[in-house]
Amino acid sequence: MVMRRRPGCRTVPFAAILYTSLAMRVFVILPAAGIGTRMSAGSSAGGTSTPKQFLSIAGVPVLVHCLRAFLTVQRVEAIYVAVRNTEIERVQAQVAEFGLGAKVSVVEGGDIRQQSVTNALVSLVATTGCGDDDVILVHDAARPLIDPATIDRTIDAIAEHGAAIVGLPAVDTIKQVERTAHGAIVTATIPRERIVQAQTPQGARCGLLQRAFAEAVADEFTGTDEASLLERAGFVVAVVPGSPRNFKITQPGDIELAEFYLAGVK
Ligand code: C5P
Repeated sequence: MVMRRRPGCRTVPFAAILYTSLAMRVFVILPAAGIGTRMSAGSSAGGTSTPKQFLSIAGVPVLVHCLRAFLTVQRVEAIYVAVRNTEIERVQAQVAEFGLGAKVSVVEGGDIRQQSVTNALVSLVATTGCGDDDVILVHDAARPLIDPATIDRTIDAIAEHGAAIVGLPAVDTIKQVERTAHGAIVTATIPRERIVQAQTPQGARCGLLQRAFAEAVADEFTGTDEASLLERAGFVVAVVPGSPRNFKITQPGDIELAEFYLAGVK
């Protein structure tokens, strides 16, 4: 059997990947339980206390833009949205209002992103019977302009490599710095061809993702994305080219920026 090998990385049986790729099922997790402190921090300067995933872009909630993009991808079998307990009814009502249908389930999220994804993963595995070779994508609900073609490419990359992320190549020169009492001091320049900014979706074969999450729990490790858990578990994580459009709504003004991008495609 042909094995993919890379120094320091676990091997994945390549023949097994090819054999199972036709039958694989695809699932999606949308963590949407954040409270958006950076949006509300600027409330005196046009900010809002509404969590960013519920703000409206061109009359449609941010979360609904995400759901529509993933539902456009035929291979997606089910989507699990993790939200605050107090938001479950609101999101269920939005799913009904926008006719998003039976593929969408709403589950309770946690106090940090990783816990929200864990809750959704547990629910997904229990209700779908997801197998080791099936694919799970995780996408920030605050990135409303993800496009179906990038989602498709990420699924294909996971089918080929076992795990993948969307990454935006760096255009600026990247400096490593040390924080001091007098501000940041540059300690090194990192060649930008070696840098990508991690976006979402990120994902892996279900078996690999479950192992990475189980090891993180065992080691009490918290990461800001799925790739950091997969990397530390030793799995190869491929990169699919991202786009500036797929930015994360983070601060006041980002809604206008998203509306600008949307107007550009009409
Ligand atoms: O806070 P940040 O911008 O990194 O959030 C990224 C995504 O994770 C957002 O879609 C947010 O709603 C989600 N999140 C979550 N549960 C948390 C915190 C963030 O689902 N406790």
